[in-house]
Amino acid sequence: MTAVVPQTPWQERYLALRERLLAEYRAIPPGTPVRLAKQTSNLFRPRDASAAPGLDVAAFDGVLHVDPVTRTAEVLGMTTYEHLVDATLPYGLMPLCVPQLRTITLGGAVTGLGIESASFRNGTPHESVLEMDILTGDGEILTVTGAADDPHRDLFYGFPNSYGSLGYALRLKIELEPTKPYVLLRHVRFATASAMAEAFSHIARGRMFEDRRVDFLDGTVFAPDEQYLTIGSMVDELPSGMTPSDYTGMGIYYRSIASRTIDALTIHDYLWRWDTDWFWCSRAFGAQKPGVRRLWPKSKLRSDVYWKLVALERKYDLSNRVARRRGRPVREAVVQDIEVPVDRLAEFLDFFHREVGIEPIWVCPLQQRDPQARWPLYEFDPSVLYVNVGFWSTVALPEGVDPGEGRVNRRIEQVVTDLDGRKSLYSTAFYDREAFWSIYGGQDYIGLKENYDPQGRLKDLYAKVVERK
Ligand SMILES: Cc1cc2nc3c(=O)[nH]c(=O)nc-3n(C[C@H](O)[C@H](O)[C@H](O)COP(=O)(O)OP(=O)(O)OC[C@H]3O[C@@H](n4cnc5c(N)ncnc54)[C@H](O)[C@@H]3O)c2cc1C
Repeated sequence: MTAVVPQTPWQERYLALRERLLAEYRAIPPGTPVRLAKQTSNLFRPRDASAAPGLDVAAFDGVLHVDPVTRTAEVLGMTTYEHLVDATLPYGLMPLCVPQLRTITLGGAVTGLGIESASFRNGTPHESVLEMDILTGDGEILTVTGAADDPHRDLFYGFPNSYGSLGYALRLKIELEPTKPYVLLRHVRFATASAMAEAFSHIARGRMFEDRRVDFLDGTVFAPDEQYLTIGSMVDELPSGMTPSDYTGMGIYYRSIASRTIDALTIHDYLWRWDTDWFWCSRAFGAQKPGVRRLWPKSKLRSDVYWKLVALERKYDLSNRVARRRGRPVREAVVQDIEVPVDRLAEFLDFFHREVGIEPIWVCPLQQRDPQARWPLYEFDPSVLYVNVGFWSTVALPEGVDPGEGRVNRRIEQVVTDLDGRKSLYSTAFYDREAFWSIYGGQDYIGLKENYDPQGRLKDLYAKVVERK
């Protein structure tokens, strides 16, 4: 274990927490699998109920220290972005990439893959981590950095997209960037996907739009001939006569995109603009009908509330049971985020409209921040701008097709691979072993697993993601 000498109250607090967790780890009989017992999740792949003992990490949700001078924060691994942002915004600072669902945790976004509208300039959350303490499968706590002389730099770079299969991040030191009080939004409509893709490239390269610096960039596709880029600029003051909108009550953010060309939000409300209605997914629960919404407590218009409802629905397969009884088509869940190079975006969307037909669709550009870095389990070409495409719904299947086959999801996997893209692993995946490891850094992963979890106390990535163990 790396020796840390506590010098400040936050370091003392942290050392006490990790000692307690280590004791818990050691109490688990040797050779027994280990897993996390967490209160929240944003995963979308059901797992077989596990009997493995869970490490109680509830105490690891909190920000230890914010340093406004160095613009860094010391953060516990299971801290939700909601709590992280609450701690940094009073200093006029925020993380470089804030995934848009409140209960996504810093550790979850670093070991998974986080994306947001600042990703075209700041990349993904793991790219602004300076240092991490990782509890490895082997029961050691290692402090890892990307430094050339760090003996564990392979773990630092191999951690993103390992989904907790190499170890758990307990403490992360991250970079922060300055904010301004408001975000001015311009919603720009495009009649074709290729025109939108061209605009993505142009704006991401120049980082300017109509004489303003562009801080945030994402888009929403409502139909093949109706898509919008939302261009956000942080500002100290709003143009005269303009007040910030409020989409945390009766107003619905995604609907405003097609009905307004200009808008403004406070920086806080901008960061959570997609959480209130889980993008648009809250409509499945009637939460967008004025009569229902009026009665729905404002504090419960949140993605984690809907996530729990969906988890129940999926556990009992309620919709498909009713559909079968009524002789209606059963439906396959198609909940995925994928990335393709920007110049393949139009091809992907053409395929998607034609064969899948889910709308709306979220689109968000991203580019690797450090061109020299190599993140072996999820490799981007640093010279290429990618576009993340997110779609979260169900598709009706022809009679006799079992949703468990993953027919639509498999087709999407194939098309994404053909277009030099890749998909995030927070949801279902159907790759065979060979295809999976050829995409997600198989050779590097074998070495990492041997070094940091030689006894296989943590489930391996393929078992977790594809076999849902
Ligand atoms: C509908 C939907 C939309 C989404 N949209 C976005 C989006 O727009 N932007 C975005 O960034 N992400 C998005 N996500 C994905 C989300 O970021 C990932 O699922 C992320 O991994 C979830 O993190 P979590 O903190 O909720 O972790 P969990 O769901 O609790 O865990 C995820 C995995 O990470 C492991 N893990 C958790 N904490 C740690 C830790 N500290 N150290 C090591 N391993 C750990 C767990 O073992 C588990 O395997 C979306 C997900 C869904 C379902």
